[in-house]
Amino acid sequence: MRPMQYEELPQKYRSSSEVPKGKDIFYRCDVCQIVIPSLPKDSVSCTCGRVGIDVDAWRLWIDEPDKFTVLKGKK
Ligand SMILES: [Zn+2]
Repeated sequence: MRPMQYEELPQKYRSSSEVPKGKDIFYRCDVCQIVIPSLPKDSVSCTCGRVGIDVDAWRLWIDEPDKFTVLKGKK
């Protein structure tokens, strides 16, 4: 299987509520380079813990917005 291709969305976000989400939207922590889906089935976070999603509260947390990139999956 080919690795998934992503397109980076260049915007920076001041608040996690501004960050887009969707089936083809992914978040990357630029510190540990882990990519997580924006709509995970279970709560998930990157390895270093700067970016994560709590599905019970539907909350996204971003410790350092400068080290966070939104990705769109390419078909
Ligand atoms: Zn990380």
